[in-house]
Amino acid sequence: MPIAKKAPTKPTKTASKKTASAKAVEKKPLTAQSKAGAKSDLAPERIADILKRLQEAYPNAECALHHRNAWELLVATILSAQCTDVRVNMVTPELFRKYPTPNAMAEASLPAIEEEIRSTGFYRNKAKSISGAAKKIIGDFKGQVPRTLAELTTVPGAARKTASVVLGVAYGLAEGIVVDTHVLRLSKRLSLTQATEPKKVEQDLMQIIPKDHWIQFSHELIHHGRQVCIARKPRCVDCTLETVCHSSDKTWSSW
Ligand code: SF4
Repeated sequence: MPIAKKAPTKPTKTASKKTASAKAVEKKPLTAQSKAGAKSDLAPERIADILKRLQEAYPNAECALHHRNAWELLVATILSAQCTDVRVNMVTPELFRKYPTPNAMAEASLPAIEEEIRSTGFYRNKAKSISGAAKKIIGDFKGQVPRTLAELTTVPGAARKTASVVLGVAYGLAEGIVVDTHVLRLSKRLSLTQATEPKKVEQDLMQIIPKDHWIQFSHELIHHGRQVCIARKPRCVDCTLETVCHSSDKTWSSW
């Protein structure tokens, strides 16, 4: 059940209107949720409503990592682990200017790659992954980033999440749903899953999100997680999903 904790310090016009009608609701532990309630959280109508609201809020949601092809996106996604997309976008132009293809990257020394990507953190491991990915793609895939999850996940540095990003964004292929930290948090808050492990969360989401929304759904949740449903203090008063959200983390409730 939602909790009305406190109104925001600087409400927007809409927020002020909402605040006036807000009322506190009794808190109940999630375990007390009835079976009927849990079922209705996953009802197709509710899922369709959530998808519609997200689409309206983020009509142009897309991957924030700059890239010109699947290879560049793969490298950028490897670099984005434990690093902001903004930082990665600062590093990749020079990296790709020096090493524009898998062949060029495979020939580069590890110290040379490390030097270029140092500011993204964990640069030694990332350099190994990028160099290994280049060699694998040349050796096993004729220099082309593969187009299936099974193949892509054999490439160094491309675990399931990275592979799904590349397939979805570069090729428009949906074999899975990208579950990053934002998708993980929001899926829980929106009662779309009770799982905590990304792989299980992805399986749950794949059961309830129509396949033709898999790619866009992740982009939209990531945008929503960055802009509104923030980890520490979600801006529920500004949230397009507020009326369908029962999260115990809510900072404001209209009902
Ligand atoms: S911002 Fe608040 S209302 Fe919106 S999804 Fe997150 S927790 Fe729910």
